[in-house]
Amino acid sequence: MKWLCVYCGSRSGNPDHQEAAREIGKGLVARGWGLVYGGASIGLMGDVADAVLAAGGPVIGVLPRSLRDREIAHRGLPDLRITDSMHERKALMVSLSDAFVALPGGWGTLDELCEVVTWRQLFLHQKPCGLLNTSGFFDGFLAHLDRMQVDGFSRFDYRAELSISNHPLDLLDRLIRTMQAN
Ligand code: AMP
Repeated sequence: MKWLCVYCGSRSGNPDHQEAAREIGKGLVARGWGLVYGGASIGLMGDVADAVLAAGGPVIGVLPRSLRDREIAHRGLPDLRITDSMHERKALMVSLSDAFVALPGGWGTLDELCEVVTWRQLFLHQKPCGLLNTSGFFDGFLAHLDRMQVDGFSRFDYRAELSISNHPLDLLDRLIRTMQAN
């Protein structure tokens, strides 16, 4: 069993983002994967988890004690792990997972994505990372990454290192191909 870590908003964004989150959930179960995520019931986080549970897939939620009430822990999770800090949460999510994707989200999602890609860049792990660019949500971010590269601040070609797609199922298949090639 492989585990996909999904980073995404604790808010819903708009219906396109919600639909994409559900497709990621259904699609990963269809490919025999389990979900690792932030353990909340709200926003896109809740949409992904509900889609995986509805399809009969396994889910591990990881929530820091300090956020247990504020983020409204998902009550339907068979496996909810509570950590003492946000740092432990992020480290546990990385160690449990075989690959990572970021869906649209806010500061927390960006923080998690940037950390996991930074760790990969530093060879702290070699697991595939991807970005779901639903409705071009990350276009501005990708333009910034281009600028980072042109100005010489990035040590790798992110387009070669990251799987990026506008379509949930295409993104999952790209990640699988990357894992098979590794
Ligand atoms: P957001 O994208 O801001 O809606 O948050 C998505 C997830 O990231 C939520 O589970 C938040 O708890 C988490 N998060 C928010 N801020 C941070 C942070 N500074 N570092 C790590 N995770 C965060």
